[in-house]
Amino acid sequence: MYPPRFDYYRAASVQEAVQLLQAHPEAKVLAGGHSLLPMMKLRLAAPPVLVDIGRIEELRGIQDLGDRLRIGALTTHWELERSDILARKCPLIPEAAAQIGDRQVRHRGTIGGNLVHADPGSDLPAVILALDGTLHLAGPNGTRQVAARDFFLDLMTTAVQPGEILTAVEVPVLGERTGTAYLKFEHPASGYAVCGAAAIVTLNADGTVAQARLCFNGITSTPFNAQNVTDALVGHTPDDATIEGVVDQHLHVGDPMGDVFASGAYRVELAKVFAKRALKQARDRAQA
Ligand SMILES: Cc1cc2nc3c(=O)[nH]c(=O)nc-3n(C[C@H](O)[C@H](O)[C@H](O)COP(=O)(O)OP(=O)(O)OC[C@H]3O[C@@H](n4cnc5c(N)ncnc54)[C@H](O)[C@@H]3O)c2cc1C
Repeated sequence: MYPPRFDYYRAASVQEAVQLLQAHPEAKVLAGGHSLLPMMKLRLAAPPVLVDIGRIEELRGIQDLGDRLRIGALTTHWELERSDILARKCPLIPEAAAQIGDRQVRHRGTIGGNLVHADPGSDLPAVILALDGTLHLAGPNGTRQVAARDFFLDLMTTAVQPGEILTAVEVPVLGERTGTAYLKFEHPASGYAVCGAAAIVTLNADGTVAQARLCFNGITSTPFNAQNVTDALVGHTPDDATIEGVVDQHLHVGDPMGDVFASGAYRVELAKVFAKRALKQARDRAQA
């Protein structure tokens, strides 16, 4: 399959990319191309102009800013997976990145493209939501920041406005006695998440839960934060029975997605199973 014809511009800087998007309002940004190009080849998207940001050096790399980490939008899944900084200070991201597609997809696909594309079956949206990340955007009116909880608006729809590009994602460095886990039930053909669960558990010195987060991919049209569950865990000793009881009692999924592979009801059951497993694994890692 070949995509429809399009004009191609390669931007050398963020400023030039924003100018090109202003000059061509119908243009689409091209990063790793591993979501956009398949959509164009399937004729699900037909942008007449592509603005390639793939060689803008300032959009690459992972920086340690002390209490937080800044990840350039063009950082590939493979770079996330292999990053020493992330392994030490935010291992949830490499754990999820390692589960994306195959090696070829991970070498080309970028964190920025993954988040802006916002496929409900993608792996990174729930991870960045669980981490309470901040997304940095640049556009014709300058730069702005959007919290992850305000970024994912609807199915494949984000807060990125026409003419804007995502430049970076910032996530907090995880503190002491904190464990994380990303577990995924993948579609056997596509590898995308039918259910992906990202859990973060921070323990007090006495072993009770100080704070926790639990977010899902694949279950609803946008990544879903199960705050009822984590609120109910705080202050309790997170033994297996407590985690299982809290998930059974407090996990309520509004409007689950369904398709020929997995009905909405099946996805809700998956969410329960993966919530328990992910919270237990995060707890074990917090205790280690
Ligand atoms: C075979 C296959 C298997 C896959 N499996 C998985 C999987 O298991 N899990 C998973 O999460 N993903 C999976 N993916 C998707 C992969 O992770 C993509 O790389 C990713 O979703 C998009 O990143 P990209 O850099 O390729 O973006 P592109 O395809 O270049 O762009 C995607 C969209 O985002 C926009 N965009 C990109 N970057 C920016 C930016 N910086 N600012 C503004 N807009 C931007 C584009 O305009 C476009 O609309 C798979 C893809 C393939 C082909």
